[in-house]
Amino acid sequence: MIINESKTQFMVINGEEDDRNPIIHDDLNITNCDMYTYLGARFTQDGRLTSSVKAQVAAKMCHVVKFETFVRRNPDAPVAVNKKVFSAALVAAILYGSTHPMYADPTICEYKRRALTKFRLSSHNLAIKRERWSRTPRHERLGIDCDLNAIQDEEHVLSVCPRFHSIRTDYPSVNFHFPDFFK
Ligand SMILES: [Zn+2]
Repeated sequence: MIINESKTQFMVINGEEDDRNPIIHDDLNITNCDMYTYLGARFTQDGRLTSSVKAQVAAKMCHVVKFETFVRRNPDAPVAVNKKVFSAALVAAILYGSTHPMYADPTICEYKRRALTKFRLSSHNLAIKRERWSRTPRHERLGIDCDLNAIQDEEHVLSVCPRFHSIRTDYPSVNFHFPDFFK
């Protein structure tokens, strides 16, 4: 397995002080961290919910300030506009912990956001994952949605498969290219 050192750190919950020493193996040096952000949600090393809530609040404060500034600068804005800005600037960032356009766009409904979240967490049912359990070799985990005879993985479904072409054109604000979609 190849480990990307710049993207890898570890946390210790309920361990000893020594457990936090860097993990050194050959040229690899993995360091300890107090906090980790996973898909926008913050986890803290002390394992306490109050710490992660505090970290989350601190990180999201800038979105509250942004909304405050908008309201102050546009005192005559109609309620509907305020609501839209509220939803785009705050709800997406705070509830979903992400500024991904699929979360920020108020015209995208809840079940689609939920589907996106599942997809981002790799909690999907594509052949690449489903057929792993039946030990089908990777190159045989093909999709049946189109006649490209391609491996049905995230990249194929998001960026290539003609079956989902209309979804890509329906949401021009979303970058469906892989792996940009997950950023
Ligand atoms: Zn396809």
